[in-house]
Amino acid sequence: MPRDFLQGARDYYDVAVIGSGLAGLTAANVLARQGRSVLLLEQHYKLGGMATWFKRPGGHIFDISLHGFPYGMVKSCRRYWSREIADSIVQLDGVRFDNPMFSLWTSFTRDDFTKQLVEKFKVDPATVDAFFDKARGMNFYDDQQTTTRELFDEFFPGREDVIRLLMEPITYANGSTLEDPAISYGIVFSNFMSKGVFTFQGGTDKLVKQMEDELKKSGVDIRIRCDVEKINVGRDGVESIEVNGRTIRCGAVVSNANLRQTVFKLIGEEKFDRGFIDDARAVRLNNSSTQVYMGLKEDDRLDVSELGDLLFSSTAPTFETEALLSRDITSRTYSFYYPKTRPEGRPRCLVVSSTNARYEDWAGLPEDEYQASKQDLCETTLEALDKYVPNIRERVVHVEASTPRTFQHYTAHLAGASFGTKFEGLAVSRALPEQISGLYHAGSVGIIMSGWLGAMNYGVIVANEVDNLLMSRGSRSTSGFEESVAGEKS
Ligand SMILES: Cc1cc2nc3c(=O)[nH]c(=O)nc-3n(C[C@H](O)[C@H](O)[C@H](O)COP(=O)(O)OP(=O)(O)OC[C@H]3O[C@@H](n4cnc5c(N)ncnc54)[C@H](O)[C@@H]3O)c2cc1C
Repeated sequence: MPRDFLQGARDYYDVAVIGSGLAGLTAANVLARQGRSVLLLEQHYKLGGMATWFKRPGGHIFDISLHGFPYGMVKSCRRYWSREIADSIVQLDGVRFDNPMFSLWTSFTRDDFTKQLVEKFKVDPATVDAFFDKARGMNFYDDQQTTTRELFDEFFPGREDVIRLLMEPITYANGSTLEDPAISYGIVFSNFMSKGVFTFQGGTDKLVKQMEDELKKSGVDIRIRCDVEKINVGRDGVESIEVNGRTIRCGAVVSNANLRQTVFKLIGEEKFDRGFIDDARAVRLNNSSTQVYMGLKEDDRLDVSELGDLLFSSTAPTFETEALLSRDITSRTYSFYYPKTRPEGRPRCLVVSSTNARYEDWAGLPEDEYQASKQDLCETTLEALDKYVPNIRERVVHVEASTPRTFQHYTAHLAGASFGTKFEGLAVSRALPEQISGLYHAGSVGIIMSGWLGAMNYGVIVANEVDNLLMSRGSRSTSGFEESVAGEKS
């Protein structure tokens, strides 16, 4: 008999949350704390979605998406999770850039960027200030037509080096490009610039375990290996979900699955207005990633004062979105992990190299070519890393790669999208409950709501809307609340 992962689950819950990414986990926790009965369903055998890790022999634990997030995570974790979780958030010691245009170290704060822009890049201080003020003043309700390229051209015309400094890390952080709306850049950039780049001490495994404990305390019914196949909709809105052969009724659904999957697979286009479906069809997925995970010998130590925590490296002469996505890799972001990452664990040094990538470049490869391409990715990455970690090839005891196919496999994200959808996805995600009462989506979407902080905050926004609906069928407005969370810059 196959194991019943829904054993003991009830026939009705106030809310079913589909997916345990950071948005799904946070929405579930907030709703349960508000007194709602919540069923959290995850298709994988682990919670966390993209916020995940894996272990390899020799004591190596590799984090997938723990590279850096803004300080705002401290406030969000304290408010919506626990003080204990918030207290493990620490600042990175050093961020570096190395490319043919410049090499520098930075604390990745407004003060330090201002200093570098004025002293190293010789930009007029008043212009730098005006740029920072403009970026910081941006919010979701602003003009959405101006592109990031136009924003840069207004302040730094012809300064491709300055644009590279300002843009390259954000492209890496959320997949946005110069052609995306400037607000998607300004909001995320200002979030980082408020205090620098932060990480979770103890690793993703510790964070997700602590979150799971909190969810249990809040009373969430957590179920792994539960792949939701359908959300059933009746005349009055959401009625139930179909999962592992069972139909479970619910008052509302929060889908943390990819937005397009939610609309086209879990619901079906016949349930929506035509105009909505046209908009949903036009939503572009964000790009995916490749990563190479390298574990050093047990007693081999890297030096944080030499390498920093995060290194944006590139051999491309200029910054171009196309080059960042190309299969012919010129840009790699290295995360260096030291024993300080997991002070309670076995002391190990690791390097994870990440690169933005296109699903299409990997999707159609026959198995032998796919394996050969992964091998080539490992080899070329070791070659490139040797510049910063001499003799890396002799020093590593474990090397493996992941591709857009890997991300798709583990998270069910279409095309392995690392950061959900492009900007237009946000409006479609927000419009779901207007189409079908009780149907919500929370998860990486629209660039702004992606990344650890964006996804978590989106989970909070949506949880409050669901709670309002359940309480009064939508009579209490949450727009003020929504604005305050979305615009949080500290
Ligand atoms: C390589 C990489 C590096 C990154 N680096 C950073 C970084 O340094 N900093 C940062 O802030 N962000 C980073 N991110 C992005 C960040 O990890 C994500 O934006 C965030 O974790 C997404 O959370 P989410 O809530 O949208 O859900 P996701 O993580 O996308 O999870 C969705 C969940 O839903 C589940 N699911 C899907 N369909 C179903 C179904 N039908 N039934 C049940 N379950 C289902 C999936 O299995 C998954 O667990 C990175 C991402 C990648 C891929």
